[in-house]
Amino acid sequence: MDSIEKKFDVIVIGAGSGGTMAACFGAKNGLDVCLVERKPKHLKPEKICGDAVGDEIFDFLKIPAPQGDELANNIKGAKLFAPDRTSSITMIDPKQTGYIVDRLKFGQRLLKEALDAGVKQFLDETIALDLLYKEKRVSGVKVRLKDGEKTELTSKIVIDASGLYSPLRKKIKSDLIEKDISKKDMILCYREIINFPARDEEIMDKDYITIILDQEKAPGGYIWYFPKGNHSINLGLGGYMHYKGKIKDFYRKNVFNEFVNSTNIEIVSSGGGVAPVRRPLWSCADDGIMFVGDSALQVNPLHGGGIDPSMRAGFYAALTAAGAIESGDYSIDKLWDYNHKVMTNFGAEFASLDLLRRVLQNMSNEDLNFGLKKNLLTASEILEISGTGGINLSLMDIASKAFSGIKRPNLLLDLNYLRLRMNEIADIYRKFPMDISKFEAWKKEVKTVYSKLKRMVIDIKN
Ligand SMILES: Cc1cc2nc3c(=O)[nH]c(=O)nc-3n(C[C@H](O)[C@H](O)[C@H](O)COP(=O)(O)OP(=O)(O)OC[C@H]3O[C@@H](n4cnc5c(N)ncnc54)[C@H](O)[C@@H]3O)c2cc1C
Repeated sequence: MDSIEKKFDVIVIGAGSGGTMAACFGAKNGLDVCLVERKPKHLKPEKICGDAVGDEIFDFLKIPAPQGDELANNIKGAKLFAPDRTSSITMIDPKQTGYIVDRLKFGQRLLKEALDAGVKQFLDETIALDLLYKEKRVSGVKVRLKDGEKTELTSKIVIDASGLYSPLRKKIKSDLIEKDISKKDMILCYREIINFPARDEEIMDKDYITIILDQEKAPGGYIWYFPKGNHSINLGLGGYMHYKGKIKDFYRKNVFNEFVNSTNIEIVSSGGGVAPVRRPLWSCADDGIMFVGDSALQVNPLHGGGIDPSMRAGFYAALTAAGAIESGDYSIDKLWDYNHKVMTNFGAEFASLDLLRRVLQNMSNEDLNFGLKKNLLTASEILEISGTGGINLSLMDIASKAFSGIKRPNLLLDLNYLRLRMNEIADIYRKFPMDISKFEAWKKEVKTVYSKLKRMVIDIKN
């Protein structure tokens, strides 16, 4: 493949939701962009997913929302059920709900947005193998092209959006970037897309996605039932990583058998995947490189939703790249601006939700049933936490909760303590330092909040 170009302003690795948006907005900002994807173009992205994406991101990026054959279903909100299924709360949140998409067609449209915006070169069936360095700064990537040839592509900046198992994050020579991610901060998922050709299956609550917390049936995660139009569903569950090998059995026994009554079904797609459920990497950038989406753990820790934040981060990374290239400085000092954008925006929210996730994972079914029944944590609080990363309860609110939770004073105290810590960590993230020399002191503040959680009565093992 001699005809390919090899020198760019920016090379983006991975044409998922994060990479396509980084490439799209890089090109829109006048940069020479090369987009590299290991899968063939027509299969991009064949992603195992719940297929739910919120409204807000499309307004934010000013690109069309899913429509036509990309769109399987419009969603008004989410219903969160307690393990005993008797109590539920309904959440209407523009960030998390809006559409259930056909993931392949949606992904292909995002790729088209990037190509139409003027991406200079798209290399599909091309695998990024390693990073290139010039004077300790990342200066490009080593790739294996479609025809098997290995070659080097150089750039001023690399944007890595190659997903949770990014090979580049593992190989980077950097003290800033974490290479190994704890399995405790990941969720193993299995899901099927099921069609009902006889149309004899009643689709449950077609306007809502249903989420069920159940520590016995989906330990450490949840069961989901997402309607895909009138005669199709996306059904799955997530759980702790150590259930590897068993997650499909859990799904068959605990989820499929409960929710699928018809025998006349067509299973359109089955498969597993892993979602990170932690706050973002401590730093999502270093000299000459930025990490976007799953590769940087930019996923909502509460439910693993990562389409919106990966697209948002792709946009932020492109803006930072354009500014850095204009100034002629591609060092971490200049790219630090990307960290600032991430941490002060959804980073603050995700750090706060990471604390909630750890507590929920350690609650028993009995506590979850009680907590949801007695409104110890209400839909509006969860949404406020999801939307802003923090909540402020009035004295009246706390008094009424104290009354409803009187039989479980420890649980109530723990949840109030948790609220305070969630506010505290969101505040720290919103004050993420612009100056890299203050980063270590900032990290120390964050770690202090995590260590405070250990004081809670709910035994935090994670
Ligand atoms: C089972 C499951 C259900 C989910 N459900 C939802 C949901 O309902 N809603 C939601 O918002 N999020 C959901 N998520 C999370 C969401 O899918 C991801 O957070 C999101 O897709 C991340 O996008 P990304 O662009 O960062 O990474 P990815 O979509 O993983 O894209 C990475 C791309 O990089 C390519 N690549 C990898 N390595 C290389 C290489 N070496 N060279 C070149 N290319 C490479 C891959 O082929 C891929 O196309 C779910 C995740 C799972 C596992």
